[in-house]
Amino acid sequence: MLMIYLDNAATTKTAPQVVEAMLPYLSEQYGNPSAVYSLGSSAKKAVNQAKRTIAAAIGAKQEEIYFTSGGTEADNWALKAAAEACAGKGRHIITTRIEHHAVLHTCEYLKKEGCEITYLKVDQDGLVDIRELRAAIRPDTILISIMFANNEIGTIEPIEEIGAIAKENGILFHTDAVQAFGQIPINVEALHIDMLSASGHKMNGPKGIGFLYIRSGIKLGALLHGGAQERNRRAGTENVPGIAGLEAAVTRAMKGMEEKAARESKLRDYLIERIEKEIPHCRLNGHRTKRLPGNVNFSFLYAEGESILIMMDMKGICVSSGSACTSGALDPSHVLLALGLKQEEARGSLRLTLSEENTREELDYTVESLKEILQRLRNL
Ligand SMILES: *Cc1c(COP(=O)(O)O)cnc(C)c1O
Repeated sequence: MLMIYLDNAATTKTAPQVVEAMLPYLSEQYGNPSAVYSLGSSAKKAVNQAKRTIAAAIGAKQEEIYFTSGGTEADNWALKAAAEACAGKGRHIITTRIEHHAVLHTCEYLKKEGCEITYLKVDQDGLVDIRELRAAIRPDTILISIMFANNEIGTIEPIEEIGAIAKENGILFHTDAVQAFGQIPINVEALHIDMLSASGHKMNGPKGIGFLYIRSGIKLGALLHGGAQERNRRAGTENVPGIAGLEAAVTRAMKGMEEKAARESKLRDYLIERIEKEIPHCRLNGHRTKRLPGNVNFSFLYAEGESILIMMDMKGICVSSGSACTSGALDPSHVLLALGLKQEEARGSLRLTLSEENTREELDYTVESLKEILQRLRNL
């Protein structure tokens, strides 16, 4: 059956070279990286090589990369450990209303533990206000956590400015770059990023692997206690196949990133243009240009996002309403509400996230299907 995959913000297809890079570590290269004989040391080499590749991709050093089980774990670790490490200075954290739940729910937990959280507003395009950020800073502010790019609406935040403000004020800066890493160039030095979260499966890598970049000199506590893996900060035998797969995904993403992004942005803008021209009562969510190359998000009045999604699925098209984490629960997306959308606009939203493999023909079929579905739903 025909399948058009337009949900790359939820997860991506594992690239063939990723699978190939993993295979040896799922079979004959099964050594424990902590073991001293050569079967072990070759696994260790693979782990260190992967750290070098990843570090080079973000302008970091090998020893600043810590493998985790994914983006959620990296976000949890960064926030909880920063709160603990800086408790002597203060307990105030600044974040935004549009973060992923991995950050928002961790903040809620930290609030119960005695932290104070400021949630910055965003404008109608999803951008944080730099002046509001400056005004929110207090002597006891220990951490600013602002996502690089939003997973629902694709808006890219002014990370360089935020990093400079954090540095100027001596405050740690963490960014959830799960959606941005591999799509847009990131240099942790130029952007003054102290901690950065990323995930394999959002960039054609395997599920269950990701990393946290921690700038050297920042004394974050351990996430897991046990063995000496990850410089004593995250114990447990390394996910060697996942790490090898993540390295292959990073290598693949870095190669010709700009051309791929340009091609994807063109497809994105084609889809946006056709929807805006051909479907009445729609609104593009997110910033028009400061936007991830593959992200399209629309609100359609007089239709439920969930109903559109189900009817699109019957036509073989995978899309999402709101975010994957909130579909199933019928709460309107916190991101869309933060943009100032009314409840019914937020409920009628659809996210279509492309990859560089999508074709114009697929998008044409998608628009035709969407037109037909909306006509049917709106006539009810
Ligand atoms: C997917 C996602 C996460 C969670 O990553 P996992 O690897 O699935 O745990 C965190 N933040 C953002 C912005 C995401 O899109």
